[in-house]
Amino acid sequence: MSENKDPHVAQGVKFVFDFTEGNKDLKDLLGGKGANLAEMTNLGLPVPPGFTISTEACKVYLDSGDEPAALRDEVSAHLTALEKKMGKKLGQADDPLLVSVRSGAKFSMPGMMDTVLNIGLSDKSVQGLAKQAGDDRFAWDSYRRLIQMFGKTVLGVDGELFEDALEKAKDAKKVTVDTDLDAAELKKLVTRFKKIVKAEAGRDFPQDPREQMDLAIHAVFDSWNTERAKLYRRQERIPHDLGTAVNVCSMVFGNLGPDSGTGVAFTRDPASGHQGVYGDYLQNAQGEDVVAGIRNTVPLADLEQIDKKSYDQLMQIMETLETHYKDLCDIEFTIERGQLWMLQTRVGKRTAGAAFRIATQLVDQGLIDEAEALQRVNGAQLAQLMFPRFDEDAKVEQLGRGIAASPGAAVGKAVFDSYTAIKWSRSGEKVILIRRETNPDDLDGMIAAEGILTSRGGKTSHAAVVARGMGKTCVCGAEDLEVDTKRRRLTVNGHVVEEGDVVSIDGSTGKVYLGEVPVVPSPVVEYFEGRMHAGADDADELVQAVHRIMAFADGKRRLRVRANADNAEDALRARRFGAQGIGLCRTEHMFLGERRELVEHLILADTEEERENALKELLPLQKRDFVELFEAMDGLPVTVRLLDPPLHEFLPDITELSVRVALAESRKDHNENDLRLLQAVHRLHEQNPMLGLRGVRLGLVIPGLFTMQVRAIAEAAAERKEAKGDPRAEIMIPLVGTVQELEIVREEAEQVIAEVERTTGVHLKLALGTMIELPRAALTAGQIAEAAEFFSFGTNDLTQTVWGFSRDDVEASFFTAYLEKGIFGVSPFETIDKDGVGKLVRDAVAAGRATRPDLKLGVCGEHGGDPESVHFFHEVGLDYVSCSPFRIPVARLEAGRAASTSTGSDHR
Ligand code: PEP
Ligand code: MG
Repeated sequence: MSENKDPHVAQGVKFVFDFTEGNKDLKDLLGGKGANLAEMTNLGLPVPPGFTISTEACKVYLDSGDEPAALRDEVSAHLTALEKKMGKKLGQADDPLLVSVRSGAKFSMPGMMDTVLNIGLSDKSVQGLAKQAGDDRFAWDSYRRLIQMFGKTVLGVDGELFEDALEKAKDAKKVTVDTDLDAAELKKLVTRFKKIVKAEAGRDFPQDPREQMDLAIHAVFDSWNTERAKLYRRQERIPHDLGTAVNVCSMVFGNLGPDSGTGVAFTRDPASGHQGVYGDYLQNAQGEDVVAGIRNTVPLADLEQIDKKSYDQLMQIMETLETHYKDLCDIEFTIERGQLWMLQTRVGKRTAGAAFRIATQLVDQGLIDEAEALQRVNGAQLAQLMFPRFDEDAKVEQLGRGIAASPGAAVGKAVFDSYTAIKWSRSGEKVILIRRETNPDDLDGMIAAEGILTSRGGKTSHAAVVARGMGKTCVCGAEDLEVDTKRRRLTVNGHVVEEGDVVSIDGSTGKVYLGEVPVVPSPVVEYFEGRMHAGADDADELVQAVHRIMAFADGKRRLRVRANADNAEDALRARRFGAQGIGLCRTEHMFLGERRELVEHLILADTEEERENALKELLPLQKRDFVELFEAMDGLPVTVRLLDPPLHEFLPDITELSVRVALAESRKDHNENDLRLLQAVHRLHEQNPMLGLRGVRLGLVIPGLFTMQVRAIAEAAAERKEAKGDPRAEIMIPLVGTVQELEIVREEAEQVIAEVERTTGVHLKLALGTMIELPRAALTAGQIAEAAEFFSFGTNDLTQTVWGFSRDDVEASFFTAYLEKGIFGVSPFETIDKDGVGKLVRDAVAAGRATRPDLKLGVCGEHGGDPESVHFFHEVGLDYVSCSPFRIPVARLEAGRAASTSTGSDHR
């Protein structure tokens, strides 16, 4: 005998588990379906006996191309035990045991193999089944279903061929539903199906029941690597080596007549969270019939009339499952001649609103605690609840549906090219840009549009990626829509939408409507804004739930949450939304509009005097901004960042200016100022402005600029103090790469502050710190902490410089390709790249604190409001995250979730 090299055999690894052997916590080994079937079996619920082949077996199969040596014998042993229990053998001619084979990975995944039912039927055993059931029609119906499912999913035959043959059989009999076909017709259909298999798969439909089972098991293993499944895993960042389990379950039959049937049920309404009887039932049906829409299902509540005993038992089981799983469960069941069987359960999907409601309902029922309630919701769901939405009561005409790619509710006139989008939006029209798919040339059109609608492409298509990056509503891949950009129209179900017709798109549901659907504000935002009170008698149930969950989160979180805001209005909103300070005030935003010209004066100044005059003009304006900001944020920290962007951003566009000057020259009409401006634009022009003269570098080479800003901050703080306010300003230096830069700026700033203190007689406590947004700053954080009282990680620039990705360009140019190739599942500008950028943050935190134990640490890049990144920042020990005002509730919630330990749940 040859030596067995299989390490699993050497280690005595077991690959097959009876349903009585597993439990719900073994999802890694048994997959979600297998683990839950085992759990239900152990709860004593009526689950048809069966066994699960583990993900370990699949892994060996995928690695080696062959199933593990021991698998066949193990399957045989479990099959024999099953046969014994059922009192009949698989495919036995006079009374066959039939089984289903179903895939079941840890996470449910599109692209995995569909279920194959009725395995064990053959030309012989179909007769035995007919006799045993006393029902010819049932037996032949089961057999035709097996050949159809097996042909399609195991042998790869085009499913349409079977569907067409079925349709023809129905047409010939002039009936519309499959249940009206009798045994003789189904028998003929079986012959037809077998011919299709032979012609298309090049082999006969296997008559050996064990061969049927083994082929189906291998097909499940193979389906782990379908292109669709692989892409889904890359995008969802599900590891490729988990493998899938295979469930082999003895068949029960819902197609044995009117006292049989199959259904789906939810323990609560997945849309509202309310407890009740939710689901659908279909008499005399099997498998997918209930969801396939081939016949009309009845509401689950009607089952009470049809079969009271099964109905009552189902209600009881649903309660058992809810109490046991402590959550909404969805269920598949079958009734075979009045006997109820449970085929599947899992913690069910739900809408964002229902997630919040269910979590608080379960707390009230005493089933879960607050920490667990926080695990039942997430920031993405909260963000979804904060978008304005279409009025649910409005009369709508739905045109079609695509993928909900970027949330929001957008209404506008249909335009089919970017040029028109820009032109119309400039004249004040709201437009929806409709394309088959978008590409980088559409960028300006996308910016101009209210929303974007495409007929092709998925969640990682150009349209979806760019729209999400811009926070713009997008529905993509609405395949029913035929977009004709040449004729500027789209056609859908005979409807024609011409350029200029109004359409409405819902980026949260993917629905597309004709005409203007009224938009209503989100009640959750009304609540955060303080315009709706959770305690009011008429308070919306959802608002009450959000209010309670936010209180749980605030009670648990360690991270503080600040806002990125640079005017009093945003600061006040941020405060209403729960901000505990401002983490980033970008002062460049204070130099826009009319004040841009003052910056121009500064840049054009030839003499010391001219420069000082320009700075003098800016000082009071800056000071007034700060006074307003400190007042809005009285008692809370406000981090003011000194000027960061390259100065040319304040000057006219080089091309426009060149044209203006050239035209003036040709008219001999010299404009001295334009000429000087053009010179300055040329002087300041940089190939890579993001890596050029910006941030602290500006402060070091433009005399007086930073000191003017520091003076404005100090004088504003002094003024607020004199007015009995409590200003808590922190001065932040951007783009520092080395401690020397910081030391010089710091020294100058300290002198200015001391001078303001002297002249005003007010004692000021102004913290001075820096952004850590260059790799060198992170790598030398220990030294930089010598001169900084706080660090704020600028993860936007840090991501840009660590990856070498130009942040303003890459999303629109090649991120789609990167996402499609699975290089990353999400843009690193959206979610922190833990291994690269995150490593620098982690190391800089440690080095900074080693130098200065009381160093205050925060983050103010976009990642500060991203759910997954918030967990990372909690874990590395930052003190706060800072994000745009609108994302503050999400950051609060996620900080609470990060800090609260789960009591164990089925939530990913
Ligand atoms: C950053 O770089 O992360 C940051 C917050 O600064 P800005 O986005 O203004 O460059
Ligand atoms: Mg930056």
